[in-house]
Amino acid sequence: MKRILVTGGAGFIGSHLCERLLKEGNEVISLDNYFTGQKRNIVPLMDNPYFEVVRHDVTSPFFVEVDEIYNLACPASPIHYQYNPIKTVKTSVMGAINMLGLAKRVRAKILQASTSEVYGDPQVHPQTESYWGHVNPIGTRSCYDEGKRVAETLFMNYHLQNNVKIKIIRIFNTYGPNMHPHDGRVVSNFIVQALKGEDITVYGDGQQTRSFQYVDDLVEAMIRMMATGDDFIGPVNTGNPGEFTILELAEKVIDMTGSKSKIVYKPLPSDDPMQRKPDISLAKEKLNWEPKIPLEQGLVKTIEYFDQLLKSDSSL
Ligand code: NAD
Ligand code: UDP
Repeated sequence: MKRILVTGGAGFIGSHLCERLLKEGNEVISLDNYFTGQKRNIVPLMDNPYFEVVRHDVTSPFFVEVDEIYNLACPASPIHYQYNPIKTVKTSVMGAINMLGLAKRVRAKILQASTSEVYGDPQVHPQTESYWGHVNPIGTRSCYDEGKRVAETLFMNYHLQNNVKIKIIRIFNTYGPNMHPHDGRVVSNFIVQALKGEDITVYGDGQQTRSFQYVDDLVEAMIRMMATGDDFIGPVNTGNPGEFTILELAEKVIDMTGSKSKIVYKPLPSDDPMQRKPDISLAKEKLNWEPKIPLEQGLVKTIEYFDQLLKSDSSL
């Protein structure tokens, strides 16, 4: 049995990761400040005596004896990370310093949840790990993109300077149950709008593309990455290479929910990347991993989750 700290444990991905780590017989500590996470996500885990919950902000140091750390604490949706951009940078950078300091002190292995946003609005397609990216350092997305880039730098340097055992994964758009209904990301927005019969808000002309990974596939990749030997630290892309335009996604969601919602077009946010698709050759080679859940299948489960949620809470 390992003792594992998950920062951002009450968030969308964090809650799935905690559940899986508990199922595998580990002792799990969720650390979260509940900025975008929800208690609701982890309530089902609270009966497990090997699950501990800590309310804490990663920008302050935190000490605990653990074997592994998954560092996920950071708002991930553009509306949330742009709400207080200075805080977003602090969370990424100071959070990384505090968690790396902890890993160094207790000799824990630490995995960073980095992002495809480190590639910015990419000029190389699909994106491989060797691509350095195309990020506007002063744009509206920079608090998140540059924060995550500095976090990768810190991880690399704690490794080189202090021999901390690190792992870096770059996560591409991930969706599934436990996303916040007002999270603002495209999959949750479209499903909630469709289920409520509201207009589906496509930003721009909807021709920008994204690749959507179901959360269970990501959690599998995270666990495999943590289990790799010391000779592989990443960064490694995890995502589903299936590429869809945002308009295609809107049409799919309307079709699958049988909704009467109409598509409406809204202005494209600034610096919105035009295309995204991971090259996952490295993950295939090093983790023996590839995503198993196609978009339609993942959407069925996600639609079911939001349908139940909206029926159980009329205030949403
Ligand atoms: P989320 O917003 O649901 O989860 C983030 C969690 O971190 C929340 O529970 C939030 O309350 C917590 N948090 C935020 N700031 C904190 C702070 N200062 N101290 C402690 N806790 C804090 O988002 P998610 O989609 O689950 O993302 C988890 C991680 O994965 C993030 O680091 C994100 O950057 C990364 N990621 C996600 C995606 C995706 O598509 N979902 C893509 C790339 C990277
Ligand atoms: N998007 C959209 N309508 C929405 C929410 C998002 O058209 O209601 C678009 C957004 O402009 C972007 C894509 O969907 O081009 C993915 O947005 P999301 O916020 O989910 O993730 P990210 O831009 O960080 O990949």
